[in-house]
Amino acid sequence: MTATTTERVKIARRGLMLVISSPSGAGKGTLSRLLLENDRDLTLSISVTTRGRRPSEVDKVHYHFITPQRFHGMREGGELLESAEVHGNFYGTPREPVETALAGGLDVLFDIDWQGAAQLRDKMASDVVSVFILPPTMAELKSRLTRRAEDAADVIEKRLFNARTEIAQWPNFDYIVVNDDLGGAYADLQAILRAERKKRERIATGVEGFVATLLG
Ligand code: 5GP
Repeated sequence: MTATTTERVKIARRGLMLVISSPSGAGKGTLSRLLLENDRDLTLSISVTTRGRRPSEVDKVHYHFITPQRFHGMREGGELLESAEVHGNFYGTPREPVETALAGGLDVLFDIDWQGAAQLRDKMASDVVSVFILPPTMAELKSRLTRRAEDAADVIEKRLFNARTEIAQWPNFDYIVVNDDLGGAYADLQAILRAERKKRERIATGVEGFVATLLG
């Protein structure tokens, strides 16, 4: 039996923000894809970036690829919920789609770095559930970055170097998952999401209505 979709009673609630961060190569992309493919109540926040598109990437699906000029315009115009410079490129989260999804009871997944996670936590603390993914070893991290083979050697080196700073951010996250086994890490994420959807503070208004009907 799958999660909420088989429930006969659905309590109305505001969506939550599932923020997944990790150093590049820890498997966050694969885990995010698995969650999105198997959970109809979860939608991806598609970021804007000034980074060049990788061969496997599709504009408006993986990112909105934009110019630095457009990025700065969006940031100054208040169109971004958070933004950061990561590995020499700019990234940001468009505000409007997130607010619409949350208000409609849809959960939103964010594949963003620790700087963005901190900004979302500051602005929208009660909506944010943050998870930090750690690689099992540095050797595994390097081998995943190299296997991906979509970035130049100097880019891979830069990402490996930055991984140390990124890993040091783990104490700021609600949950820590070590991705030494993809199936296990995925099950952990599903369990986190499932439990967070039942938090009283998150569903109190919906439960009040339900209980009123229940008791007549
Ligand atoms: P990549 O270039 O490999 O797609 O992403 C590099 C890093 O930037 C990853 O850690 C990714 O999670 C992060 N990132 C992607 N989009 C955003 C965003 O909108 N905001 C922030 N702060 N980081 C992002």
